[in-house]
Amino acid sequence: MARWSSCALVVLGLAVVSGASVSAQAAPAQPAAAPTSVDTGLAALYARLEQALVAGEPSQILASTSAAATNGDRLSAFAQSQAFARAVRAVIRERDRAPLEEAAEGTAYRMLLEVFVEYEGGRAAARTWSIDATRTPADGVWRLSDAEALSSADGLNRLALNPNRQFRVRDLAVRAEDLQLTFPSGVAYVASTQDGETAMVVIGDGAMQFTPTPAMERTQLRIFSGETELRVPIGAAFLRYHPVDRDDHISGTLTEEPVSASNLRKAQAIFDEEIGKSFGIELADLSRERWSLIPPVGDFLTEVRTKGRFGTLTYVRSGGEAEDISLFQRARRRNVAVYTSAQRLKTRGSREFSEDDEADYDVSHYSIGATIDPDRQQIEGRTEMRLTVRATAVGTLTIKLAESLNVYGVAAEGMGRLLALRVRGQNSVLVNLPRTIVRGTTISLTITYGGRLPGASADREAVAVLQDVAYQEEFAHSAEPRLLYSNRSYWYPQAPVTDYATGVLRLTVPDKRACVASGTPASGNPVRVSSTRGPLLRYVFLVNQPARYFSTVISRLDQAGDAEVKGSSPVTVAVQANPRQRGNGRRKVAEAAAILDVYGDVLGDFPYPSLTLALVDDPLPGGHSPAYFALVNQPLPATKFTWANDPVAFDGYPQFFLAHEIAHQFWGGAVGWESYHEQWISEGFAQYFALLYAERSLDADRVTDIRRKLRTTATSYADQGPIWLGYRLGHLQEDGRVFRALLYNKSALVLHMLRRWVGDDGFFRGLRALYAQSRYTKIGTRHVQRAFETESGLDLTRFFEGWIRTADTPRLRASFEASSGGSVSVRIDQLGPVMDVPVTVSVIYASGAADDHLVKLSQGSTFVQLPASGPVRGVELNRDEQALIVVERGPAPRTRNGDPMSSSKSVPQLKRSN
Ligand SMILES: [Zn+2]
Repeated sequence: MARWSSCALVVLGLAVVSGASVSAQAAPAQPAAAPTSVDTGLAALYARLEQALVAGEPSQILASTSAAATNGDRLSAFAQSQAFARAVRAVIRERDRAPLEEAAEGTAYRMLLEVFVEYEGGRAAARTWSIDATRTPADGVWRLSDAEALSSADGLNRLALNPNRQFRVRDLAVRAEDLQLTFPSGVAYVASTQDGETAMVVIGDGAMQFTPTPAMERTQLRIFSGETELRVPIGAAFLRYHPVDRDDHISGTLTEEPVSASNLRKAQAIFDEEIGKSFGIELADLSRERWSLIPPVGDFLTEVRTKGRFGTLTYVRSGGEAEDISLFQRARRRNVAVYTSAQRLKTRGSREFSEDDEADYDVSHYSIGATIDPDRQQIEGRTEMRLTVRATAVGTLTIKLAESLNVYGVAAEGMGRLLALRVRGQNSVLVNLPRTIVRGTTISLTITYGGRLPGASADREAVAVLQDVAYQEEFAHSAEPRLLYSNRSYWYPQAPVTDYATGVLRLTVPDKRACVASGTPASGNPVRVSSTRGPLLRYVFLVNQPARYFSTVISRLDQAGDAEVKGSSPVTVAVQANPRQRGNGRRKVAEAAAILDVYGDVLGDFPYPSLTLALVDDPLPGGHSPAYFALVNQPLPATKFTWANDPVAFDGYPQFFLAHEIAHQFWGGAVGWESYHEQWISEGFAQYFALLYAERSLDADRVTDIRRKLRTTATSYADQGPIWLGYRLGHLQEDGRVFRALLYNKSALVLHMLRRWVGDDGFFRGLRALYAQSRYTKIGTRHVQRAFETESGLDLTRFFEGWIRTADTPRLRASFEASSGGSVSVRIDQLGPVMDVPVTVSVIYASGAADDHLVKLSQGSTFVQLPASGPVRGVELNRDEQALIVVERGPAPRTRNGDPMSSSKSVPQLKRSN
């Protein structure tokens, strides 16, 4: 879900608008304060430097250096590298300032500056400098004592279509991997830089053909367009490419002809609308004009104006993304296709990738102190993060922090105060290190910050929200208010990708509110403290076992009970409840303890030594389960929402949500997933553990009912895509039920079939081994496969490929022949794709009694001889609902199930449980 904010290239502080980015906003205004004499003195220095840049004279930059500077060579190299001829305008803006420690107060500072220089011919450069300036005592003038260029984007261009050249096109073809645009005839205009042509607008009646190679992407294209390949008429296209790639993408005849004013007007309108959406740079107060970058070599983008319902479609090839091909519909923010190119597959060797692959550093410990005012949605914090560099060498660190929060200061142990810069339009802060640090170096950063940060409480993390407004209204009217800060809130400075770390959270909240957070509550929690705003409560939470991210919820909560779950590593369970839920609370303590007991028995471990359940009012059931705590929604009796038809509404299993959320302590919590494709390892395993708890706590018929619901929902949504699509299941349809039916339910049944395929013994040993090997790390499907292969001795390649990476469902038909001598010959045909599937075959006797047999199918036709103890009336497949199959109604065998459950589109969405 994070794709929309992904950005391959960040020039210190400036967000580059990548192909998939949709919006950016100006940097928050600097807090206004009366200028001091230091401000005035530095402003004069910047003005002199701006003049020197316009003059293009290194000597003029050097004229502003301090006579006392001891690093003349460095300064001279800096001046040589920054001054260029033909500059017409220069703008310098100070972004951060810190006093130099060795100097007397008010006489020396280090600054982070953003610098913009415009040159003749519509070119420009954006740079980031770190400079040291000192005030010369004799004349009071500020001069440079050191300077370094940290980054530069030199290739900015003010692009425009050449209005004097119009081309008649014949049989123009535009090609990129899996994409072809053809224009039998039309007109084209181009935009060039001094390096060559980089943009084109083509107008004419043409056609677009997009045929994604991966089968999985074709399932999504079918949902989007009705066909597994897209062939649509188009009226125009806007293209961006690096000049050296031009001929790789564009072929055909272009003949220059006289310019037609009306065509030029049309082309310019298209250009003006599309140029700013990609390869741009957000310069805010450095320049109000629109500047573009030349796409990196190998990158390609086209905005295709289709005729009809799809509107404009954007195809991007972006080398900066792990999955470097995408097709999306900007207007509706939908990713139609996202996958790895053939070329990238060759170099990487696998479709799988980890979001950690590109991480510059790894955080091992967080110490978070924050005062949170839930009514004003205000947070003031100070966080220390201990991190170790993973990249070969880094000079800047990117830290995630909600964009609405101001950074007051960043300091590092042994380095003093560091300069920091906000990336515009993103939840990112760039921290400039005073020197490059190399792989293996560990440093501690302390960040102070604060501001307004709305919670995620009445918000949905789910992709689709059909009745958002109605839900919000009902929430506001009936539920106890709560403020939730969790994994997408960026409420504390953190690594760009989720990252297992230990921590200490010291959270201060108003009196009469309670705070539940990741971590074991310290004894004596909370401590009453007084402040100018009245009495406050301070809570301390210890995260001694690594967690993927930390969360907190603040609401009116009362302690409703607690219990101890014994095991090799005991767990303390405590329940905190909104006032209306207090009665529920006592019962939930016992249920939670029973659930944990079963999970601990299956895995032989508890990943976290305490679990706090927060029972909160909500119009809909659901929950959220960060490490050490679970938020469990308690539906309000008067809710106007019904969820009976939802894939995760299980009649006769009221503990389902609790069991699912608690399982996330193990799966999704202690065992993480390495990319969006692998989310089934969180949701599917949590769902299967809820099924394991049902097996041990409910009678057999009710368990069969639950499995039936899993099967019917999973088969009825099966054609919406394979499990490996992760969040993209239901994304195009904006239907969260698809996600729950497949990522939750199908995944759970796939694990159940895996258990039947390898046997209970191999399965439970595999499960334990997988958990033990993966605790506090992020994994992918291959790790799951390997663990079960090792414990079972079976090759499970086809099993995982078929069930996780394809959208196929076996269609089975059985026929039989009763033979003499007390047996029956059964033939089972896989009418659809042949998969590895274990299925129960029941011999039904004339008396109505039945014998069940497990048969493992891996061929198109399977013949088995089953014992029969009496006259046989028929055979039945999947009577116990343990296989994800569709039984075809053949003429011979009698079947009971097989019809995919029909789904009504008018059912409101269920809150996604996470
Ligand atoms: Zn979940």
